Amino acid sequence: MPKKLEHIGIAVKNLEASEALFTKLLGIEPYKREEVSSEGVMTSFFLLGDIKFELLAATNQDSPIAKFIEKRGEGIHHLAFESENLENELSERKSQNVELIHQKPKDGADNKRIAFLHPKSTGGVLWELCQEKLTD
Ligand code: ZN
Repeated sequence: MPKKLEHIGIAVKNLEASEALFTKLLGIEPYKREEVSSEGVMTSFFLLGDIKFELLAATNQDSPIAKFIEKRGEGIHHLAFESENLENELSERKSQNVELIHQKPKDGADNKRIAFLHPKSTGGVLWELCQEKLTD
């Protein structure tokens, strides 16, 4: 089971414009930008209390974010839950008949390993499970 809500992923068209908007709305500056080239996204992170906001902008037309915005416009793209053990949680979800988008964890932004659950199994909102990468 997830430990806590880790971040909220928000699909945006223009990263600069949305960073300025969120800086105005939240009263804080983004603490980092990071590209996830495997997903075709540039991300920007804000930390409010202990919840992060991850702004996601497409870096190419085939990006899942470009397709999401084409279909649904800008807005909440996913909720990310922190997992204590990603492999165990994925097999637990599978046994609950939750449809997995990623069968195995992959590298995500912000020093995380991630895996997505299909929104048709999670009430219409895309779920990301994430776990801090172990540094040894
Ligand atoms: Zn995310």
